Amino acid sequence: MTYTPAADRYEKMVYRRCGKSGLQLPAISLGLWHNFGHDTPHQVKRDICRTAFDLGITHFDLANNYGPPPGSAEEAFGDILKTDFAGYRDELIISSKAGYNMWDGPYGEWGSRKYLVASCDQSLKRMGLDYVDIFYSHRFDPDTPLEETMMALDHIVRSGRALYVGISSYNSQRTREAYAILKELGTPLVIHQPSYNILNRWVEHDGLKDTLADLGVGSIAFTPLAQGILTKKYLGGIPQGSRAAQGKSLDPATITESAIASVKALDAMAQQRGQTLAQMAIAWVLRNGGITTALIGASKPEQVVDCAGAIGNLDFSAAELDEIDRIAAEEDINLWAKSSAE
Ligand code: NAP
Repeated sequence: MTYTPAADRYEKMVYRRCGKSGLQLPAISLGLWHNFGHDTPHQVKRDICRTAFDLGITHFDLANNYGPPPGSAEEAFGDILKTDFAGYRDELIISSKAGYNMWDGPYGEWGSRKYLVASCDQSLKRMGLDYVDIFYSHRFDPDTPLEETMMALDHIVRSGRALYVGISSYNSQRTREAYAILKELGTPLVIHQPSYNILNRWVEHDGLKDTLADLGVGSIAFTPLAQGILTKKYLGGIPQGSRAAQGKSLDPATITESAIASVKALDAMAQQRGQTLAQMAIAWVLRNGGITTALIGASKPEQVVDCAGAIGNLDFSAAELDEIDRIAAEEDINLWAKSSAE
C-alpha cells in the first residue's frame, strides 16, 4: 500500500538548532546501525522508518559499514527512499560516515582522503542519492594528518557530495583541532557524534560536552539507551531476540549486577516522573539543551513510538539529577573509548 506520512508529524516533534548552524534536527533521531541488514525482513525496516517519520523524526543516520553485511543498511534505506519516502527528500536529513573497516587493503578504513571520498561515493550509490546532508569522519585516525582528513571533508562538501560535515568519537582536544582546520578551510564543523548515556559519561569527563558548547558545535548522542540496557528489557535476564542474545555489539557480560541494580532504581524514578525508563534515559541525554539530538536505534516500530514520547518531559529538577548520579555508577560499556583516547 502507498504510504502517506502523518499530516500532523511536525506537531509531534521538537526541533533543535544544531550548534550555531542553520540546521535544525529533531530531538530524537533514528540510527540504522542494527536491524537494517539482511538479518531483518524488509517490511520491518519500512515500518520502523515510516513510524519514525510519522512522529516527525526527520533525521536518519547511516554509515558505510552498517548491515550485516556492510553496506546493506544503506541499500535498504535507498529502497525505502525510492518507495515510501519518494517525494520527501527535502524533508529528510540523511547522514553517512566512513572510518571503520569497509573493504580490503589500505584504502578501505581510517581517515585518508582516498578512503573518505571513495566511500562517500559508494554510500551515495547504495542509497541512490545525489548528496547526503551530513558526512562524518567516523573516528580519529592517529596515522593520517588531521589536515588531510578535514580537507577530504571540505572537498566532499565543495564537490556537492554533502551539505554539512561532522566527526564522531573524537575527544575534546582533537575536536578543537578539527574545528580550527575546518574553520580555516571555510567548511564549518557542524556536528559531533559521541556515545553518551547515564551509564557512559565520557563526554563529561573528557570535557567534550563543554568544548562543543564553547565552539558552538551541535551534537548527536548515540546509544542513549546503552544499546537497550537502559530499558526494562534486561531486568529479568537476557530475552530471546534481544541485541544481547544475538551476540552482536552488546556483550551480555557488560550487563552486570550493578548495572541491573541501577536500572531497577532508575525505572522506579521514571515511573514517578510518569515516563518509561527509555523515555527518561533519552530525556536525561537531552537535558538543559546540552545535546542537540538523541540518536536511538530500534528493532520494532513500537520502540520508536516509546522513545519519541521522551519529548513529553525533558526537564529534571536538581534533586532528580542528583538522585540519578547517586543511583547510577559509570559502567564499562563504552566500546568507542579507544578511538576517543587518541
Ligand atoms: P540505543 O538507542 O542505545 O539502543 C537501541 C536498542 O535498544 C534497540 O535496538 C532495542 O534493542 C532497544 N530499545 C530501543 N528502544 C527501546 C524501547 N523503547 N524499549 C525497549 N527496548 C528498546 O542505540 P543504538 O542502536 O546502540 O545506537 C543508535 C544509533 O547510534 C545507531 O543506529 C547508529 O546510527 C549510531 N551509532 C553510532 C556509532 C558511531 O561510532 N558513531 C556507534 C554506535 C551507534 P533490541 O534490538 O534488543 O530490541
